[in-house]
Amino acid sequence: MQSLDAFARAKLAVLDAGGLRRTLVRTRRLDGPWVERNGKRYLSFSCNDYLNLTNHPAVKAAATEAIALYGTGAGASRLVTGDHPLMEELEGRLAAFKGTEAACVFSTGYAANTGTIPTFVGERDHLFIDERAHACIWAGARLSGAEAQAFRHNDLVDLERRLSAADPRGARLIVTEGVFSMDGDVAPLTALAKVAERYGAWLMTDDAHGVGVLAEGRGTGGLFPDARVDLQMGTLSKALASAGGYVCGSRAAIDLIKTRARTLVYSTGLPPASAAAALAALQIIERDPGLCALPLATARAFTRAANLPEATSAIVPVILGEPAAAMAAQAVLEAEGFLVVAIRPPTVPVGTARLRLAFSAGHPDDEIERLAACVRKFAA
Ligand SMILES: *Cc1c(COP(=O)(O)O)cnc(C)c1O
Repeated sequence: MQSLDAFARAKLAVLDAGGLRRTLVRTRRLDGPWVERNGKRYLSFSCNDYLNLTNHPAVKAAATEAIALYGTGAGASRLVTGDHPLMEELEGRLAAFKGTEAACVFSTGYAANTGTIPTFVGERDHLFIDERAHACIWAGARLSGAEAQAFRHNDLVDLERRLSAADPRGARLIVTEGVFSMDGDVAPLTALAKVAERYGAWLMTDDAHGVGVLAEGRGTGGLFPDARVDLQMGTLSKALASAGGYVCGSRAAIDLIKTRARTLVYSTGLPPASAAAALAALQIIERDPGLCALPLATARAFTRAANLPEATSAIVPVILGEPAAAMAAQAVLEAEGFLVVAIRPPTVPVGTARLRLAFSAGHPDDEIERLAACVRKFAA
């Protein structure tokens, strides 16, 4: 039998040959979107800290104070060690912010999706997932054992066709993203909620990239206030400048998650400092809609200057086709002092390798102009 090491080498060689190997690069985040890599200073467009709150004095102070008061780790699962008062406060504030009865906080967004989906669907049930949905939604689908179908991206006709053809027995859950993480476009939530209602399906959204950015920070749901969404998932790790994930929904739905979701039951709770940082960030978001408007305004300044379709969120894709083209563009921008990550299959469909730019409240206007001038050269 082949040794484990030989197996790993062979796998890596295949990835290298296809230009698909991923590696970690030591990078130190400095102030706001500026970073240091190999002794050089870069402006980064690869960070989801949309509001630059990870370095906000009030957010840092809240985390520091929580460590001083409560220590660093949660100690055990929330159900075992007892629930930290900060968790209850954070969940109450998230539910109020999203306009739901209750919320449940997990240790990551990944855990929120992989824990929530199997709570509501299992074998003999049906999942309908947007084909561009995040990897952790697909992971949750697999864990659930439900029959999972991908519907064409934001395509209500394809979704309806699949819903009407599905076995009428069993529960139906539609899962989509609010803002798509690799394309930056927005799901039509009002229309999706109507389709869900017509076919007796539940609707779940993942708004990791909408919260803090769209609709004065209220997220994609805030753009579609009349859409009925049963489960609104999100993460504390992006605009909320911390770590952790959450799901908002009815009291009963959240109570069921808290007794059934395996990633909550069998995983240690969020550290108190992460809860405190997220609470402080949430307070800033609620009080400062002007700050929340900056990432989209900056993304739009860029798309105008680069002659690209107008940005609809803080994420702008520049699609270049083959992995080699995306890697070459990444290198050109790096030489200009811009850190922009090339996204390749399998993260995005074959033939759509791209640069993915994430704009934040801290990107200076003159640098946006200079970046647009560079991008115009190879996006033409
Ligand atoms: C980042 C992300 C997640 C995972 O959240 P983490 O808190 O980083 O685990 C889930 N869904 C989407 C769409 C994301 O972009």
